[in-house]
Amino acid sequence: MPHTIGFIGLGIMGQPMALNLLKAGHKLTVYNRTAAKAEPLKQAGAQVASTPAAAAKGADFVILIVTDTAAVEEVVVGKDGILGAVASDAIVIDSSTISPTVSRKMACQIAGKGASWLDAAVTGSKHGAEKGELTFMVGGDRQTFERALPILQVLGKKHIYCGLNGMGLSAKLAQNTIQATMLEVFSEGLVLATKAGVAPETMLEILQSSLARAALTDFKAPFIFKGDFTPYFPLKLMHKDLELAMEAGFALNVPMPTLAAVKEVYSAAKAQGKGELDYAAIITFLEDLAGVKVRSK
Ligand code: NAP
Repeated sequence: MPHTIGFIGLGIMGQPMALNLLKAGHKLTVYNRTAAKAEPLKQAGAQVASTPAAAAKGADFVILIVTDTAAVEEVVVGKDGILGAVASDAIVIDSSTISPTVSRKMACQIAGKGASWLDAAVTGSKHGAEKGELTFMVGGDRQTFERALPILQVLGKKHIYCGLNGMGLSAKLAQNTIQATMLEVFSEGLVLATKAGVAPETMLEILQSSLARAALTDFKAPFIFKGDFTPYFPLKLMHKDLELAMEAGFALNVPMPTLAAVKEVYSAAKAQGKGELDYAAIITFLEDLAGVKVRSK
């Protein structure tokens, strides 16, 4: 059944997600802070709103996918935020990776309007968003999750209910802790092997024949070997998620000594101006320190 959807945030992830909803026959009103990014959606048949509130007005579902906690606060409770316009039976699906604590506060504010809120963090990056093959980690009321499934199924291939509000985000922060650390350690190993004279492709073949094989490094290695750091997931956003994971560790009294060190490697790369590159560019910071480049000949 076609739904009326307000869609807010047309960045790397939001553009293809919104397009997939349009292709599935839903009626979309989109909002993006930088208006020019709404143009491809307009050409594909979406209405364009000039405020988040206007995008949310009359919608059955409102989907958010914006940069960070401050951005979500702005589009929800800021001037012209959705809080002033959301319908009393609507479901707000927030796929931004933000603070679970603030997400729970947003859920309460939205509940005060009679509407429902799901934190529905995603993994699968730009290619998963384009193919409609994202994995969702969802927190909130289970019945609300089930009502939202027909929409989430257009966008993703797997939908994992994690528990109450904020728990999808807690899972997401744990996942990115693991993923960021894996890629950093993969980079350290490759830099070591390359400096010793072992070709990057040889090292990858060895890893792929061992228990260290991972879908993440299989995917990222060819880009690293070409020196192509076009952002699928910008390094500055991974750094943001590691900060959020450290905060979560502090709040829950969970020591994360490796994450603390790895986060500082991402901090250093970001301080060097690599924040807009894909997070695989973490290797270039290590390459600079070691004086070697992990590239195909
Ligand atoms: P992005 O390309 O940088 O897009 C960010 C979007 O947020 C843009 O539409 C931006 O608007 C909007 N925005 C930022 N601040 C805003 C504000 N104050 N008010 C209104 N809109 C604001 O980022 P992305 O890669 O799509 O990621 C979006 C979210 O998904 C992040 O939380 C990220 O951690 C998460 N995520 C990303 C990936 C990935 O692989 N890329 C994977 C999983 C989860 P402008 O166009 O005006 O800047």
